[in-house]
Amino acid sequence: MEKNKNEMESVPRSREDDYSDEAIETRRRWIKEKTGVELKHMAAHSVTGKDVEGNIENFIGVVQVPVGLAGPLKVNGEHADGVFYIPLATTEGALVASYSRGMRAITESGGAEARLFSDHTQVTPMFVFRRTGEAAEFLDWVDANYDRIKEVAESTTRHGKLLKIDKYLIGRRAALRMYYYTGDAMGLNMITNASDRAARFIEEQVKPESVLFPSSMGTDKKSAAINMVTGRGKRVSVDVVLPEEVVEKRLHTTPRAMAQGFLTTVVGNAQAGTLTQSMHPANGLTALLMATGQDVAYVPDSVATITTMELTEEGGLYVSLYMPCLILGTVGGGVSLGGFREALEIMDCYGAGKARKFAEIAAAAVLGGEISTHAATITGEFSQAHNRLGRNRPRE
Ligand code: NAP
Repeated sequence: MEKNKNEMESVPRSREDDYSDEAIETRRRWIKEKTGVELKHMAAHSVTGKDVEGNIENFIGVVQVPVGLAGPLKVNGEHADGVFYIPLATTEGALVASYSRGMRAITESGGAEARLFSDHTQVTPMFVFRRTGEAAEFLDWVDANYDRIKEVAESTTRHGKLLKIDKYLIGRRAALRMYYYTGDAMGLNMITNASDRAARFIEEQVKPESVLFPSSMGTDKKSAAINMVTGRGKRVSVDVVLPEEVVEKRLHTTPRAMAQGFLTTVVGNAQAGTLTQSMHPANGLTALLMATGQDVAYVPDSVATITTMELTEEGGLYVSLYMPCLILGTVGGGVSLGGFREALEIMDCYGAGKARKFAEIAAAAVLGGEISTHAATITGEFSQAHNRLGRNRPRE
């Protein structure tokens, strides 16, 4: 089929410096000529082309996502201890108000207890041999040569540490699930480099039929049951006990109604076969990750979570949230760019030594959303709140 000229034209790029003002302006003029669209808003930004080098290609500007502040959120964690205000980037009216309400309920109840209990991210090279026996012998070789593999992998990074390798034998295929500690970076660039070097070393030594890396078993940017079991990224548990008076005042319902209604949520999730057993962790988590310059494509991994709500003997409501796959960082990726850095700084979570703190705060923030959304659904306020705060009729 003959393509017309317009379809085949590539976006203009500068060989000398594609992040110069001139290169960026050339692309803006080019797209205006093609489409008639003047990038008035996209072209108004404080970060420069140089700032975004390494984060994006064919840069033309910045879209402004509105950011609202939720809180106060009291967190009693091992790494996060204090009261925080949480920046959430979204265009969903009612989201910030709802999360803020949940956070206030947590804070008025003494705060959310938070514990991070594992911190590792995996990548998984796969090696193909002729037969199962050969692949099994290879796994024995990996055990015998673990120290050499670790040395090769860690030679690429100052902060990344190989913690262990889980081995899988799948017919003639052998998979090595390599667990790394990644410091304060979410670490996917870091450990992909490390395992790439290790996989090439292994290939030279054992000469498999072929190697696949990265492989689909790495589960990147997908919800996967394996991560629910082993954890991936930061694994965090948070909980709170909401006294009856807080539930009545802030959530307009009772602990008993919340706990009973939650059983229906569990049944609904079970019937639908959702991997998450929570209300809607993606909502607040995406907004928080967007505000702080994270790779939001990891939301599907991070939202595999479990929420519980139970009536306590004293008549309060116990609520917990288990987040086994929180993939985020306070160093690297996009976190140092303009407003993303400011958003992290609002929570004192920018830079070295802050990733575990940020993970505990993020989990507590999502817990706030679980509480508020569940209350809104059982009191029938869910749709009313969206209509009042969030129902935008299309604007001209
Ligand atoms: P990065 O920006 O590529 O690298 C962060 C680097 O910061 C680390 O490698 C480390 O250098 C250095 N660093 C300095 N202080 C550190 C500290 N306190 N803790 C940890 N590291 C510190 O970030 P990344 O987290 O590895 O990767 C994130 C990016 O990868 C995101 O933009 C994401 O979209 C992208 N990504 C990549 C892949 C992939 O397969 N390559 C897949 C998905 C997403 P040293 O290594 O020398 O210690």
